[in-house]
Amino acid sequence: MNQTKYIFVTGGVTSSLGKGIIAASLAKLFQARGYRTTIQKFDPYINVDPGTLNPYEHGECFVTDDGAETDLDLGHYERFLNVSTSQANNVTTGRVYLSVIEKERRGEFLGKTVQVVPHITNEIKERMQLLGMSGDFDIVITEIGGTVGDIESLPYIESVRQLVWELGENNGIVIHLTLVPFLAAAGELKTKPTQHSVKTLMESGIKADILVCRTEHELSDELRNKLALFCNVKRDAVIQSIDASTIYEVPNLMLEEGLDIVALKKLNLPLKSAPDLKNWNVFLQRLKNPKQEVNVGLIGKYVELRDSYKSILESFIHAGASNHTKVNIISIHSEFIDLKSAKEQLSALDGILVAPGFGGRGIEGKVETVRYARENNIPFFGICLGMQMAVIEYSRNVLGFGLANSTEMNESTPFPVISLMEEQKDITDKGGTMRLGSWECNILEGTLAHEIYKSTQIFERHRHRFEFNNAYKKQIENAGLLCSGTNPETGLVEIVELPNHPFFIGVQYHPEYKSTVANPHPIFVSFVAAMVKYKNNL
Ligand code: GLN
Repeated sequence: MNQTKYIFVTGGVTSSLGKGIIAASLAKLFQARGYRTTIQKFDPYINVDPGTLNPYEHGECFVTDDGAETDLDLGHYERFLNVSTSQANNVTTGRVYLSVIEKERRGEFLGKTVQVVPHITNEIKERMQLLGMSGDFDIVITEIGGTVGDIESLPYIESVRQLVWELGENNGIVIHLTLVPFLAAAGELKTKPTQHSVKTLMESGIKADILVCRTEHELSDELRNKLALFCNVKRDAVIQSIDASTIYEVPNLMLEEGLDIVALKKLNLPLKSAPDLKNWNVFLQRLKNPKQEVNVGLIGKYVELRDSYKSILESFIHAGASNHTKVNIISIHSEFIDLKSAKEQLSALDGILVAPGFGGRGIEGKVETVRYARENNIPFFGICLGMQMAVIEYSRNVLGFGLANSTEMNESTPFPVISLMEEQKDITDKGGTMRLGSWECNILEGTLAHEIYKSTQIFERHRHRFEFNNAYKKQIENAGLLCSGTNPETGLVEIVELPNHPFFIGVQYHPEYKSTVANPHPIFVSFVAAMVKYKNNL
């Protein structure tokens, strides 16, 4: 096939309609029909990447193999498709402007007045086609963040208009996702917001080819006809997206509605074979019919917003299904845990995960949590900051370094068991300067890590500044906390574990970014298995 086809997904009426899930589900169906598909997201904010955004504002920051700090929707793309994304899959307005301004400074525009149209829109269009030009994909789905009508989205919408025009008939189409609200007082579903948002799109010169309507109730035939007529789309291009019990159900729902077929026809592509969703449905079956349940404590400081730990929650869903187990997540704010309350808050749990994080708030509660899990033989899993807390707890309570800390929390600690690497010490910029992306880790044989990975060489994604301080490695290991994984080039410690504990592991990297439906992450799978065992031995 020579021509890459493009699908643009816009959103209307409200935000949070789940454009990312619809895009990922459609991509899944294309993939299951044998099309090489990728998804990219264009975000309208001015941050160059979401790395500098507070998780409370924007949810988790997802990290790719190439070290890009990206929107959490890229996590959904990877989890659904089981293919890696990269920096090219996530573009923000900030990044677009930065590169246009840098070009202007280099004199690349030859005395021209640099403007939104054409310079910003050209930059956007170029980036929209970057992955398509690679020749690796038959179909590229581009999700436009925000809602049509927003001031911020305008350059993107204009770029989509131009690109659809330039690509020509059947090469680029627009799917518009809207809300069809149910008015309880009237007992009716309402189409007017959808009509208005389609009209807003039209004002920018874009005609929606397909409407995907989010709804809490079934759309009747009559209502579908009405939407088709007033929104100027074909009847079979009105797709219902009804609330689902799990996001992993959405590909099947879209299959039933024929979204993939309508899109392929509009792109003039053959349907090929019916989508092969066999493995996907095995996963769904297991997810929906668990044989047992466990309760895991998620100890963090961003627990109020579930999106802050999105990838961790999804990893538990994948690992739970593979263990035929429902994993109930009990979110506990680390600020509310101390020596006295630890037992009351943690003793009923079947396992404890201490979450990643930044800054000092809630740190002492995390240290107390690790102590409780260690002393009471409760399965423990520490991720990034959680691993650092395990090292601090061990240094304080087993080695007797009472004031051990990370220099992130206390620069003048006498026992900096977690500290900055030399290379990091002079860095003052906060954006994109952490240890990011995929790094190699070598694993010692005969360890829990080796039992989990069944390999001595792994690659995992990082996002942190501080590191295990190797000056203390000998003492810590002699006291019984084993460093079972290290980076071969730098000698940096990547995994710690306690050999005389049923399941106690801390990892400096973020395994949650690599868990997918097709490949649940082995640490999460083993952690859930350890929780089941712990629960049944009680
Ligand atoms: N704040 C710690 C660091 O920068 C841990 C980061 C994290 O948990 N992602 O090293």
